[in-house]
Amino acid sequence: MINEIELTTTQEISAFKLERLRATLAYLKVNSPYYQKRLADVAVEQILSFEDLEQLPLTTKEDLAAHNDEFLCVPKDQIADWITTSGTLGKPVSFGLTKADLKRLAKNEARSLAISGCQPSDRIQLMVTLDKRFMAGLAYYLGAQEYGCATVRVGSGSPGLQLDSISRFEPNVVIAVPSFLLVILDYASDDQVEQINRLIEKIICIGEPIRKSDYSLNNLGSRIREKMPNVKLISTYASTEMATAITECASGMGGHIPAELIHIELVDEMGKQVAEGQVGEVTVTTFGIEGMPLLRYKTGDVCVKSSAYCACGNKTERLSPVLGRKKQMIKYKGTTLFPEAIYEVLNGMDWVTAYVIQLATNDIGTDEVTVCVSVAKGLEKLVAVDKLNYSFQANLRVKPIVKILPREEIMKLRFLPAMRKPIKLIDNRVNDLS
Ligand SMILES: [Zn+2]
Repeated sequence: MINEIELTTTQEISAFKLERLRATLAYLKVNSPYYQKRLADVAVEQILSFEDLEQLPLTTKEDLAAHNDEFLCVPKDQIADWITTSGTLGKPVSFGLTKADLKRLAKNEARSLAISGCQPSDRIQLMVTLDKRFMAGLAYYLGAQEYGCATVRVGSGSPGLQLDSISRFEPNVVIAVPSFLLVILDYASDDQVEQINRLIEKIICIGEPIRKSDYSLNNLGSRIREKMPNVKLISTYASTEMATAITECASGMGGHIPAELIHIELVDEMGKQVAEGQVGEVTVTTFGIEGMPLLRYKTGDVCVKSSAYCACGNKTERLSPVLGRKKQMIKYKGTTLFPEAIYEVLNGMDWVTAYVIQLATNDIGTDEVTVCVSVAKGLEKLVAVDKLNYSFQANLRVKPIVKILPREEIMKLRFLPAMRKPIKLIDNRVNDLS
């Protein structure tokens, strides 16, 4: 299921991908109403390298939302399945998939399962939704079938039904949002936890990172590992727009980018490609999509890429865990920081009962970070501040301002009436990076 090209050499992979890229550009020129306009003055046949991509326009989330229908490259009667993005950052965008796109999606997840070390004989419990216009559940279902696995489609939620399914069908692989798996483990009796540990060999974690930038497990990953000491945790990164999953191999050193399906550039604020090892915004060009292919689409996620040798033998480039959202990047005391790194420190302290982070612009026009924290009863405020300062300095190399507040006050900040979900970050900066 892994395209053999991925096991050859970086040069051969590069040549193969370049062909895929050129085919995509030619396809867009002929079939995409949106890109026909954007590429009107561009001789796409002169794009001869991945560096040349910098000459082409970027596509933003706003472009996609404002011109949604124009991105469609086929008549609507050729669409086999309609999907929407979750719309957490604005209104949902529609994606139409043709029959060939569904096959591509199946192939993509079959590769994901193969690269994560799954076997066609595996039994997979899907703890992700197949309906509600989501792509992930459908993609994994198609991929598991393509690969030859058996599936148990429980969907998201229902801890009781999840546990019943584990006991009834004895899956050895679970595909789930990792924080939901913790809910199930908390819900389960000791006997059921013992059964889970006996049966489940591997968890494919979607939607949330389980690793830090150095690839060690973050607090979420560690909490699962505490309850399931022998389970193999596999991290993935994907989105509807990419229609591709970047899945790590057993080495757990970043997701292998599928050569056949996508090209990923990491770009700076000006849309220029950053050097290997540098932090940049994940910008994708999809390969082999009929319905709604994307060119240089800026995802808003920030990662690092590596082409260093991987022990699994796959020679594709690898992508780090998502370090944060570009819009939330903080420039603080000469260093670049993401809220995720602060959450990670706070999540590691069981005496922190609630927190919220406030960002502001100070008098000299730079970012100011205040961490508002409530602490467990009995812990002295000064001791708490000391502990936090020590941990921030050790983990982040900088110390944000710490404010200890009553839990009720933090909860008030977290549940603003206008927001549907509790918030952890209040960004009041004047010039938000975009
Ligand atoms: Zn590998």
